[in-house]
Amino acid sequence: MFLRGFVLFRPKRTQKTIFDHDICLPAARIEALEKTWAGPFRRLVLPMIDEESFRPFYCEDNGRPNKPVAILVGVCILKEMNNLTDLEVLGALDFDLRWQHAFNINAFESHVCQKTLHNFRTLITANEQARNLFTGITDAIIETAALSTEKQRLDSTQITSNMAHLSRLGLFTRTIEAFLKRLHKKHPKWYEKLPRLYDKAYLKRAGYFADVTSSRAKRRLDKSARHLADLVDRFRGHPEISRMKEYRLMARLLSEQCRFIEGDPGKTELKKPKEIPADSLQNPSDPDATYGRKGKGYKASLTETCVKENPFQVITDVDVAPSYANDQKDVMPVIERLEETGHKPAELFGDAGYGSGENILQAHEREVELTAPVTCGKAPDLNKMQLSDFETSEGCTQVVSCIRGHAPLECKIVERGKVVEAVFSREHCLLCEFLPICPVTRIRGGDYRLKYKRKDMVSSKRRVQQETHDFKERYKIRSGIEATISEADRVTGFKRSWTRGKKRVTLSVFMKALAINIKRFVQSRLDQAKKTFSNSLEGDNNDHFCRLCSLRLDDGNLSSAAMAA
Ligand code: SF4
Repeated sequence: MFLRGFVLFRPKRTQKTIFDHDICLPAARIEALEKTWAGPFRRLVLPMIDEESFRPFYCEDNGRPNKPVAILVGVCILKEMNNLTDLEVLGALDFDLRWQHAFNINAFESHVCQKTLHNFRTLITANEQARNLFTGITDAIIETAALSTEKQRLDSTQITSNMAHLSRLGLFTRTIEAFLKRLHKKHPKWYEKLPRLYDKAYLKRAGYFADVTSSRAKRRLDKSARHLADLVDRFRGHPEISRMKEYRLMARLLSEQCRFIEGDPGKTELKKPKEIPADSLQNPSDPDATYGRKGKGYKASLTETCVKENPFQVITDVDVAPSYANDQKDVMPVIERLEETGHKPAELFGDAGYGSGENILQAHEREVELTAPVTCGKAPDLNKMQLSDFETSEGCTQVVSCIRGHAPLECKIVERGKVVEAVFSREHCLLCEFLPICPVTRIRGGDYRLKYKRKDMVSSKRRVQQETHDFKERYKIRSGIEATISEADRVTGFKRSWTRGKKRVTLSVFMKALAINIKRFVQSRLDQAKKTFSNSLEGDNNDHFCRLCSLRLDDGNLSSAAMAA
């Protein structure tokens, strides 16, 4: 989406006017405002917003001037930071002095139309600018606060978009209902040609079609499936109706949930629940939402720093994926993205969902130590010797010695570096009491060969390592990410997005993560200022400052009801 030809790009003004708060308000009021979150936000966060990166989306010499990008980005962030509706956030900008001070605007510039905010969000999602915004501001915070990114931890959580969780019958009903409504509106003549039962059962029925006792639900489900197949069949090939989004959703639902009965081409039957794919339609109002182990919706992954010396920790990477996506596949993309932004950690902590021999090896090749327990794969046979009983070189590319201390006669890497073969002398092995339980096999010539996949050796060694006190102590720091997810949910409503569709949900997740980073940064600056202030007072009462140090915005916000009035 581009606003070229309609809106002229204009960065936020830096020139002062006589209406600015700095000039109009008493000095004491300005000083008080500086001691709230608005002070550090204006001085430190606002300049971090890169307006110039949005210039290509606007016109250089035509159209009305835009609302400054810095204000719109800031509004998007503060909306998530306080979990507010558009109406509440725009009301706060209009009437709250702290918001106006934070954006360095006067009362004449504080009004932003809801449509402008909506269009700006569409511009960000259409041009995939959410990650750039997040990275740009996070980089600036890391640099300003001199944070270390040497150690990081990652975890994922299930998030839901603003959609209802439907039963299977509810899903059929809603999808058919949405199609019939659209057909009635756009093609009333075709709607009139449909049998009246559709009208009665879906659009003019009393109560909710899917609200039945469990004994009758199966019958209604069969009936809905027949209706769905009939409607898809009726309009298949229609030049306009078959292109409607609602029709395509019906066709998708039919292919995912039903199958044609063999030998009876016109008839369909419902698939068994386990035959339905995880990426199947969950709700027609959010076709991107999928089904995963933890529920319906999406999976959001967060990576944050975990260096004790940092004054606060910062989220360095965010990603949104289908809810069925496996954590195992997230490790390398996270490392690659962190490498691109220049924040690649030396050590990355993850839970067992991220731990596997392959991930540990691949991370090692990128000079990142992945500290995650391994629980996946086949359980080891404890009656036999384990691969970990062999001493290997770093990266498990060479066998140094076996449990008896014997070095192999030869050792080579095969299968493009994935497999290692080591040959042990028959003289040693034949005399060894461990031979019956040793994973070596006899080869031609009488010697014994150990053949292993490097990832299996790494897994085996990690299984031993993760039981040690040292590992457990080091690993404790990982659990802090759970607190971050909990904080994000408490503060920004992270787990329940206010919007729908993958692109829009992704934007809201990036803004929420950014809001957490900014909140921590601003809070850290306020704490520093409070400490300095307390020291300078040397025991005097500093209650006034403490009260203003609050990050909470609701004290000064108008209620949504008041704003609506
Ligand atoms: S059987 Fe051979 S390789 Fe295995 S422990 Fe004994 S000497 Fe070492």
